[in-house]
Amino acid sequence: MVITRYDLSRSELAELLEGEPNYRVDQVWDGIHSQHRDPADLTNVPKELRSAIETLLPAALTPLREVSSDNGGTVKQLWQLNDGHLLESVLMHYRDRSTVCVSSQAGCAMACSFCATGQIGFDRHLTTGEIVEQVIRAAQHSGDKRVSNVVFMGMGEPLANFDNVWSAVERINGDIGIGARKITISTVGVVPGIERLTQQSLPVSLAVSLHAANDKTRNHLAPINRTYPLRKLAEALQNYRRAKNRRISLEWAMMSEINDTDDAARELGAFARPLNAHVNLIPLNPTPGYSNSASRPDSIVRFRDLLESFGVNATIRSNRGTEIDAACGQLRAEQTVTVSKRSKH
Ligand code: SF4
Repeated sequence: MVITRYDLSRSELAELLEGEPNYRVDQVWDGIHSQHRDPADLTNVPKELRSAIETLLPAALTPLREVSSDNGGTVKQLWQLNDGHLLESVLMHYRDRSTVCVSSQAGCAMACSFCATGQIGFDRHLTTGEIVEQVIRAAQHSGDKRVSNVVFMGMGEPLANFDNVWSAVERINGDIGIGARKITISTVGVVPGIERLTQQSLPVSLAVSLHAANDKTRNHLAPINRTYPLRKLAEALQNYRRAKNRRISLEWAMMSEINDTDDAARELGAFARPLNAHVNLIPLNPTPGYSNSASRPDSIVRFRDLLESFGVNATIRSNRGTEIDAACGQLRAEQTVTVSKRSKH
């Protein structure tokens, strides 16, 4: 596989630029990371060296298509990797921050029934460089609006690609300069990954795509639950919470008659309360391979109120980018999809 611009560690870059003084290596490293510059724009570096870097370290992402919605507030970018695989990332501008939602895999093996990425299957893990470059490209696109938050809620299950994701997290934090608490890893419940996360020192935020709090329904919505059922998941989350003293978020895509009933609220309340978790309620986004519909707005409000009556904090999240397939569960990375009214985790 081709080594790309953000795949190398700083010491590997120094080896590649053998003979160059340390300050020069620093200029290149800081220029492409904290200043988000392309090698060609490193004007403090001699021209020959800039050209050499461009040749030795090609970009990982080739832009194929960009679509926006919410008056430019949500931008979905489709990228082609050097081996032809496709991935998507989504940039969201808010009043007080800009957030990039990055992919960790091309496709996903988790097969969650309601998710467009799960419906296309797994291609491969992304490398550290391919993940980091999504953040850099978002920062370049954002211009003056600083990208301050990164969420691993794009294509793929980040904890199934732990090593590359974690080394990207360290780079995003240490070299690009985004605070660890502003980096969120979202998992569908890969318990060994949560256990590994518990051992790490950087206090990133953790979100769990829960969607059901009884094993029967969850086995259907998120088949990983057959391997790591709710009891094991709760135990891993409790250990994470004790070790990190961080509040965990539980994501709940609201599906009519599936997980928006009073019983479902009671089950979720019983799961969330001992964890002191915050619940995010997200209306289900349409995907081609899942026929169930989103809960009605009044059902969502009733569900939220019930949770709160059980002592669980819950927020109804608005969907960004639904009409461009950029919302949760909708990333699919198909070049052929027409972006129109029909247009992820
Ligand atoms: S919801 Fe997340 S883990 Fe499940 S299939 Fe989609 S991308 Fe994969």
